[in-house]
Formats: sequence, structure tokens, C-alpha cells
Amino acid sequence: MDYDYDLFVIGGGSGGVRAARVAASHCARVAMAEEYRMGGTCVIRGCVPKKLMVYASGFAEAFEDAAGFGWTVGERSHDWSALIAAKDKEITRLEGAYTRNAEASGVEIHRTRATLTGPNSIHLADHGHEVTAKTILVATGGTPFVPDFEGSHHAITSNEVFDLTARPSRIVIVGGGYIASEFAGIFNGLGSKVTQVYRGGQILRGFDDEVRTHVADAMQARGIDIRCMTDVEKITGTPGNYTVTLTGGAGEIEADCVMYATGRIPNTEGLGLDKAGVALGPRGEVLVDALSRTNVPSVWAVGDVTDRMALTPVAIREGQAFAETVFAGVETRADHAIVPTAIFTQPEIGTCGMSEEEAHGVAETHGGIEIYSAAFRPMMNTLSGRDERMLMKLVVGKESRKVLGCHVVGHAAGEMIQMAGVAMKMGATKEDFDRTVAVHPTAAEELVTMKTPTR
Ligand code: NDP
Repeated sequence: MDYDYDLFVIGGGSGGVRAARVAASHCARVAMAEEYRMGGTCVIRGCVPKKLMVYASGFAEAFEDAAGFGWTVGERSHDWSALIAAKDKEITRLEGAYTRNAEASGVEIHRTRATLTGPNSIHLADHGHEVTAKTILVATGGTPFVPDFEGSHHAITSNEVFDLTARPSRIVIVGGGYIASEFAGIFNGLGSKVTQVYRGGQILRGFDDEVRTHVADAMQARGIDIRCMTDVEKITGTPGNYTVTLTGGAGEIEADCVMYATGRIPNTEGLGLDKAGVALGPRGEVLVDALSRTNVPSVWAVGDVTDRMALTPVAIREGQAFAETVFAGVETRADHAIVPTAIFTQPEIGTCGMSEEEAHGVAETHGGIEIYSAAFRPMMNTLSGRDERMLMKLVVGKESRKVLGCHVVGHAAGEMIQMAGVAMKMGATKEDFDRTVAVHPTAAEELVTMKTPTR
């Protein structure tokens, strides 16, 4: 059968764009639809603008620390509108680059909503007509999830936070995950009074417990009011003047703004996947195998919409692997093991591999587990007088000697973990770390100088 395209990609984010470009480079006729802005969540309202805002808020710490090094820093003020305008300019530049690069690779971009009408057909909303493709790739990402409760409509999410016209002077952030914890740091650094509300016992569930405690303590020392073991019962009031009532009689908080960061759900609603017969999981995720194939041979899916590992670089790898499998004829699986990642809390976290708790689950395979952990005051904090400590931690197989986990909390933790990730991916042992000469004077040298197990 003659199709309009060899590949139609729905979603112009990180995973979709990579897949489209690689497929086009293998001479496939490729089209893509994006209903919002090219670049997807990461570029438009995720990782990139978030990191720019983390940088912006980090100056508060730098100004404070400067005094210890002899600087006199004058009166400080922050212009939120200037930050947002500068951020918008950069995002627009990146959006343009994404579009140009895709088009230069030969990808035809349709700026409209696309929905499946069958296993090989797509309806384009603005164009009002149907196109056909031999292969369809669903790369529609995720969307913020806000639970339903009294006044939930007052809450903003990470979709709106990047475009607030003014910085809230008092903000309640709900959730204990990546987004909530990162934004707590951003607003705190910029001068807002931040309360983070989390239903569990400690924020950042799923990460190493020692890391979680270290970060939560540091965030509180920096002024963030973290309230655990409670949730929001209701939000009443009007914009700029809300009352947030907590459950279990945990009190009320007055706030200008309430932000929900309670997870993201796969963006599959109304996408027509049912018309193509594509099977979805309980969270609405597209069910795929290790090659990113759905149950329908012509339909594939990559990135957050598959609810595997919601990280941009992982989506990119999945998109690349898909295109190599289908259009280069080389069966390629994205590798989801030992993925280094950073959480841009303040202080920052870099983490790769297993937490101490996870490692205990595989202790038998490794002849037991050794933990090397050091919390120390980095050199920067000696003259600055800042009391905050860095945390470096290695989780090691006692007999296998394998470094199973590496966790860093502190300045440039994200930069460090990228390189530790290379070593771990190569199967580094503790002795490999030990025989690597330290880079002096750095904080990172602690990773190769921890001699005696802590436990
Ligand atoms: P997360 O899944 O990280 O965290 C969601 C948080 O919301 C958890 O603390 C969860 O609690 C809580 N929660 C969930 N449902 C409810 C509810 N009904 N009521 C109250 N609290 C609730 O999601 P995020 O939104 O923070 O981030 C989404 C994804 O984006 C992440 O999984 C991550 O992969 C990606 N991301 C990555 C970043 C990075 O790499 N630096 C940065 C930002 C996002 P509980 O723990 O009890 O389940």
C-alpha cells in the first residue's frame, strides 16, 4: 500500500524529534505534528527553563558567601519580569533551533493536533484532513496531574509556573518529588516564603535515604518550611490571597500562590489510540516492549508517554533506538540500566545506580554491601562561613567490589555524577575508584579517597 509518509511522529519533544531526524537521515519520508511548541516539555516548560531559574536563584547564595571572601555586596533586588523575559527569549531561540534542525533533516512539521484514526492513519486538526503513514510514533510526553479536592482549580502546575507575571512572595508547593523540591529551592532563593507540603515521611521518595535526609535538612536550614505527613484538604480565597488548609488538623497556610507538583501522567487522552487498537496501562501509558513497540505493529511509542523512565536523555535514547531499529534495520534497545541523573534542588543531587536500601535487596549476589559515606564542609564553605555540608556516598558490593551506587549532594553534583556514571557503566570496582588519582583541591576527590567503610 502507498502511504503519504514512511513515518509520522506525534509530538515534537526530545524523543520525537530525535526519532524523526534519525529516520529522515535514513531517507525515510517523515512528518511530525506538534500542537503546542517545538521542543516539548524539556525545552519549553521543563528542564531548560527550570535550570535557568535555578541559576537565577543561586545568586542569593553567592551574594551571601561573597562577604567571607572580602566582597561587599550592595543592596540586592531581583526583577522577576526581567528573568522571565530573558528566559522566554532563550526558549524561543531553542524552539527555533529545534524546528530548523528537524526541517533541515527533511522532516515536515505540522503545527497542529494530531490524533490517530487507525493503525496507519492520522487526523490533523487544523488541516481537517487525514494522512497515512507506514509507521506512527507516539511521543506525546506527559502532563501534570493534580488530584481533585476542594479548591484544586486554584492550583498552578509546572505548566504555568514559568509564566507567572509576578513572583509570589508566599508560595505553597505540594509534592515531594523532583519538581516540587526543585521549585521550593528556586522560589526560596529568589526571596519567596516557601512551604513545601508532602504527604509522606520524607521528601524525594525512591532516592537514597541518607541523601533525602541530608537534602531536606539543608533545604530547611536555607529557610524552606517542609511539612511532611500532611496534605492539602482545601484551598480557599482568591489569587494572591489563598488559605491552604492542611489535613489532620495540621493548620492553615496563607499564600499568594499554590503550586502542585504531584506527578505527571502520560499524555494519551483523546489521542485516538483506541481507534488504532493500541493497548494502554492503568495510568494511560502506552504499553511497549524493549524495542518501544506497541501491540499494534505499525505503532511505536517513546518517552514519557510510555511511563518508563521520565527523563529527557532517556527519551532521546529511546527515539534513537526506535529509528535505528525501524529505518536502519539494526535492532537497537535503549539501555535503562545505571542511568546517572541530577536533581536541581539546592543543594543539588547527583545520583547513579542503587540507593543503600535497594542494594540491601541484592546483597546476597554481591557477598554483602559496604557503605562509604562522608559528609564534610567543602573548602568553599570555610571562608564563606556557610554551615552546609557536602555528602559523598558509594554503595559497594562487599565481595564483588562493584560500585553499585554513587550519590553526591552539593555544588556541581550533577556535573560530577556524569563522570562517575561512565565509570559505573564500565563496571568500575571500588579499587578502580581508589587507584584513580585525586583531583586536588576539589570536593569530588572525596569520591576516590574514602578508604574505610562507614558501615
Ligand atoms: P514525582 O513522581 O517525582 O513526584 C510526585 C510527588 O507528588 C511525590 O512526592 C508523590 O508522593 C506526590 N503525590 C502524588 N500523588 C499525590 C496526591 N494525590 N496527593 C498528594 N501528593 C501526591 O513527580 P514530579 O511531578 O515531581 O516530576 C515528574 C517527573 O518528571 C519525575 O518523575 C521525573 O522523572 C521528571 N523530572 C525530572 C527532573 C530531573 O531530572 N532533574 C526534574 C523534574 C522532573 P509519594 O512520594 O507519596 O508518591
